[in-house]
Amino acid sequence: MTRESVKPDIYGLTRAELASILEGMGEKPYRAGQILGWVYRRWATSFEEMTDLPKTLREQLSERIKFGSLELLKKQEAFGERAKRYLWGKDGRPLVESVLLKYKYGLTGFLSTQVGCPVGCAFCASGHLGFERGLSKAEIVEEFMGMCADEKARIGHLVFMGTGEPFLNYENVMAAIESLTDPGGYNLSRRRITVSTVGIPDAMRQFARDSRGVRLALSLHATSDDVRSMLIPLNRTYPIASVMEALAYYARYTGQRVTVEYMLISGVNDKKRDARALAALVEGIDCLVNLIPWNPVPGLEWERPGEEAIRAFREILERNRVKVTLRRSLGGSIEAACGQLRRKMTERE
Ligand code: SAH
Ligand code: SF4
Repeated sequence: MTRESVKPDIYGLTRAELASILEGMGEKPYRAGQILGWVYRRWATSFEEMTDLPKTLREQLSERIKFGSLELLKKQEAFGERAKRYLWGKDGRPLVESVLLKYKYGLTGFLSTQVGCPVGCAFCASGHLGFERGLSKAEIVEEFMGMCADEKARIGHLVFMGTGEPFLNYENVMAAIESLTDPGGYNLSRRRITVSTVGIPDAMRQFARDSRGVRLALSLHATSDDVRSMLIPLNRTYPIASVMEALAYYARYTGQRVTVEYMLISGVNDKKRDARALAALVEGIDCLVNLIPWNPVPGLEWERPGEEAIRAFREILERNRVKVTLRRSLGGSIEAACGQLRRKMTERE
């Protein structure tokens, strides 16, 4: 192993770990706060920029601590300047994508949690990439901070809705959340973070206990186990009843409203009886149903429903007093696109 690969990464270090490295170098512990201020509040991308540290210390820090490991391989803008996609890699090889959306209320970062996704949902670009590994805590934090640094702006909302299933990389995702919410660091509000899961009941219950304000979204997408298992293979292991029970547990335990994501695919899950079944499934749970018309992924032969079918579906839910939002193309097509940029780059190799 090279010295470079065993060096700790600044984005992976807790304040205490950084303080102890500094102590080992004969430095005062307060330097940790000073350095983290540069990293998380001034979006520095090197020790060199930290001009209020002595030059020799900056040089020693560069020797001992890696300043991230991701390279920005490609950046794309969409919808004017309202969306940006970032492709991150290592040694020129594509790894993961993250997305930045500009809403009226501010910037939202969409982060990936795994390189490819092992779940392999039938409608998802990420599910067809081939799974490699989960991202480390440092890589997840760097995806986020890399977008802040590029944009030179604070990102106020974070959703784990890029490539990968966050609960199959539970520890690193939770560690990244702890790091980004540290009051002495980036200090992101926990309530402005949402983790989206395909539905892993034990992890959802664990998350209820660990979340302390972080929100949960469940990708339901179907109301019968037959259809859901066809769309989401993991449903054979964790059927609808088990994921809904875990969702209700989270809502009860935390007292927080949950989101149920329901992607509409023409002729598959968009019938009136699906809408009625969905209303029955969420009854008694404080939740918001987010309808997402399926966004085309090249090579996948599904169809997005027409406006009339979407409107009828929504009306049935509303008549049953379910709170509904419809995600229009901005968010949706970025989600569908998540994974595609990397796929394109990989195919070119
Ligand atoms: N693995 C997690 C989080 C990432 S996906 C999960 O599945 O919840 C974020 C959301 O985008 C999920 O609800 C997913 O089902 C949805 N999605 C994936 N591909 C899509 C597509 N082509 N069109 C619309 N939504 C899609
Ligand atoms: Fe993975 Fe989520 Fe895509 Fe399914 S929808 S393949 S769980 S990223």
